[in-house]
Amino acid sequence: MDLCNLSVIKRLMTEAGITFRKEFGQNFLTNRMIPEDIADNCADTAERLVLEIGPGIGCLTQELALRYKRVVAVEIDRGLIPILEKTMAEYDNVTVINEDIMKVDLPALIEKYADGMPISVCANLPYYITTPILMYLLESGVKFDTVTVMIQNEVAARLVAKAGSSDYGAITAVLGYYGRAKRLFKVSAGCFVPAPKVDSAVVRIDLYSEKPYVPKDEALFRALIRAAFEMRRKTLVNAVSAKLPFSKELLCAALKAIGQDENVRGERLSTEDYVRLADYLTENK
Ligand code: SAM
Repeated sequence: MDLCNLSVIKRLMTEAGITFRKEFGQNFLTNRMIPEDIADNCADTAERLVLEIGPGIGCLTQELALRYKRVVAVEIDRGLIPILEKTMAEYDNVTVINEDIMKVDLPALIEKYADGMPISVCANLPYYITTPILMYLLESGVKFDTVTVMIQNEVAARLVAKAGSSDYGAITAVLGYYGRAKRLFKVSAGCFVPAPKVDSAVVRIDLYSEKPYVPKDEALFRALIRAAFEMRRKTLVNAVSAKLPFSKELLCAALKAIGQDENVRGERLSTEDYVRLADYLTENK
């Protein structure tokens, strides 16, 4: 069954008595080549567990099932479950779970299904909650190998931005702590039903197995990034001293110690710079 075919999508949904739910960010793919490409790019080896978030009616799920050893798909919309039971019936390596991904105990879920295999995430993410889901995955403590997601094009630009560019933001600096993101390809809004307002892009994040730089105080590292980007137009010294209990003098000394100008803005600092800044502040409190 071609689960990207518009008449198939409509028939399955009518039979199940459901319609698209905007509040769940439901924009289903209607071009079969796209889930094929996403699944191809999701990981380099087949022997793995792939966690899919938001399978919808299963167009990407079936491509993942054909390529990878085990697929666990977490779908929030109860109305889609009877459809998935039908469309996934022929794939005995797929498990569908009716849950909100943000409420799933990820380490427990992975422990149950991974069987020691490497773990990847693959998803056409619901756009209303893209960044929280990415942060939930990254901060879960689960050792994901790759995270391949379709997201809004402008969020994709943020994830791959270089320090100093206008797209560089808090999410870029935090992401750089966990891994390296690469934009794979763009997908136009016309490839979905209903069509979203903006174009999308597929991004693959390769997570570090060993992080290249680890702050002594991770909470401070995060707080610094949050504070620095909350008031983007201010200098880092002004933005951080307004939010955190560090004097401007100490912050100027910290910037000098890591080779930065005291008037620098937060968007100029790389992840490594934030780690070094946090460490200086930890050591010189
Ligand atoms: N994978 C399908 C596709 O590519 O056509 C559907 C993708 S659609 C953009 C997003 C999917 O995520 C929907 O099926 C939606 O119901 C589901 N979803 C939304 N919020 C979710 C959440 N918090 N947890 C799990 N699934 C969610």
